[in-house]
Amino acid sequence: MLLHWLNAECFFEFPYNHFYFNSPPLERKREAAMSDCLFCKIIAGKIPSKKVYEDEQTFAFEDINPQAPTHVLIVPKRHVVDLKEAKTEDTELIGYCQLVAAKIARQRNIENGYRTVYNVGPGAGQTVFHLHLHLLGGRPLTWPPG
Ligand code: AMP
Ligand code: ZN
Repeated sequence: MLLHWLNAECFFEFPYNHFYFNSPPLERKREAAMSDCLFCKIIAGKIPSKKVYEDEQTFAFEDINPQAPTHVLIVPKRHVVDLKEAKTEDTELIGYCQLVAAKIARQRNIENGYRTVYNVGPGAGQTVFHLHLHLLGGRPLTWPPG
């Protein structure tokens, strides 16, 4: 009852809050994560980046600490945390990032040998928790990777 009353107050004074508090918890979690996400800020142009490619679904830019002559990050515009958090609805987006990487590799003329990598979890070196595909190339790449 109290909650109901609070919501009503919010609705009259702050209509935005009404929608916020009535959105599903998962949606709220995603909104909170996005507001504090480095890559969401880069996509929105709030933090500068060296843009390489953009379309409706993805944004690609030069990695700030390149590990190869070509080191581009392909980032879905939708905030997905990482591969292990991805849902069935993200399937196409995950694969689509690979096709964008292939397109950039063709443009960069590095098709002799390049690598695409999703780091998943801190143990694999993931430091930014917004899904991104690394495109690395332009030098010999050893196997297995470190
Ligand atoms: P990961 O370690 O797989 O999460 O990849 C994150 C990548 O983002 C690293 O390779 C970083 O060098 C890169 N990075 C971090 N901050 C920026 C930034 N502001 N602009 C471009 N790349 C960044
Ligand atoms: Zn994000």
